[in-house]
Amino acid sequence: MEASGNLAGILMPLVARDDSIAARLSRACYLHGLRFWQGPGRDAGARLATCGVMQFARTGEQEASMRRTVAELGLPGEFIRYLDRDGAQARLGYPAPAGGWLFGQGGWANPPSLCHAALALAGGRVSTSFGTPVAGIERVAGTWRVLGDDGRCIGEAPVLVLANGADAVRLPQAAPLPIKRVRGQVTLVPEGRLPPLSAALCREGYAAPAVDGLHAVGASYDFDDDGTPRPACDLANMQRLDGLLPALNLDPAGFASRVGFRPVAPDRLPIAGALPDWSCLPDATSARLGDLPRQAGLYGLLGYASRGLVWAQLLAEALASELEGDPMPLESELLEAVDPGRFALRAIRKGRG
Ligand SMILES: Cc1cc2nc3c(=O)[nH]c(=O)nc-3n(C[C@H](O)[C@H](O)[C@H](O)COP(=O)(O)OP(=O)(O)OC[C@H]3O[C@@H](n4cnc5c(N)ncnc54)[C@H](O)[C@@H]3O)c2cc1C
Repeated sequence: MEASGNLAGILMPLVARDDSIAARLSRACYLHGLRFWQGPGRDAGARLATCGVMQFARTGEQEASMRRTVAELGLPGEFIRYLDRDGAQARLGYPAPAGGWLFGQGGWANPPSLCHAALALAGGRVSTSFGTPVAGIERVAGTWRVLGDDGRCIGEAPVLVLANGADAVRLPQAAPLPIKRVRGQVTLVPEGRLPPLSAALCREGYAAPAVDGLHAVGASYDFDDDGTPRPACDLANMQRLDGLLPALNLDPAGFASRVGFRPVAPDRLPIAGALPDWSCLPDATSARLGDLPRQAGLYGLLGYASRGLVWAQLLAEALASELEGDPMPLESELLEAVDPGRFALRAIRKGRG
């Protein structure tokens, strides 16, 4: 019902010339996610298409840098290819605005259907309690209790995983996490008003192939809390669209739109793992992640920002592996990069700010 309620989201990795931590993490998560999408997810009813994603360069300089990046990284062609403008035009079937990267395995998905598919696969091992607002959580005698608006216990378990997006920081146990809500508005353009899209397109914004007769075109990036769609954001989305397709100059009046809030950490990396015990952090600025006390049984899968479709599967798998004592599916440098404790270490080094 929140950010994940969007009609269509794009699945594509982040690529950087220095193959940064964010790029390596996104590559691992993207490839793992694809396996779920194309296998059990699709079989269980997830609505998606791995039709490819074309990311156009914004400038001539960026075009050159994108070409060099592909040549230098030497990644397989099915993962990423550089297409010049003519190549992009041949792949897409209409005049391309620039050259750029083609992620041939990427595509779009309808996020609610991915959630339904994951629940269907879990079957009777998961019970749900939707539409039940959580007002607080408390730990009593080794058990986490989840409390409703009236203070009654809605559920209890020895392990609690917070996956409540931008709202996590309303709970005192997670409040020190520096997660910001970043507003995003998507405009839904009726099918037929764009050329048929054989791939998802991105540049300053994105456009997805039609789902249920609508193209999701987005998205604004605003720093306010207004949940109501604004005409100015629809107009800005149409300008983003003009950067992707030969000038359409669409008037968005009458188009539907949807607002969501991205849960964003300052380093734009997701937050996955055991939450620190903020009340007894060590003083030593030399403290490392392993030195941090943790809140027993309390974990987070948070801060998915603009790439929830990329992060979701592998980070959940990594957390499950941690809980079960299984081998971790990610290398330690990447696990450390997403550890919620990184913010506690930063606070310690800054004298707790
Ligand atoms: C406009 C826009 C476009 C986007 N496009 C893309 C894209 O193309 N590709 C991509 O990968 N990602 C995209 N994203 C990002 C993606 O949507 C998010 O990363 C993802 O949805 C985050 O998932 P989440 O489960 O952490 O949070 P959410 O989807 O926000 O879910 C949080 C859940 O917690 C529940 N909750 C919160 N507080 C409470 C409470 N007190 N009691 C009970 N329940 C509570 C909510 O009801 C909700 O179900 C986009 C986001 C936006 C806003």
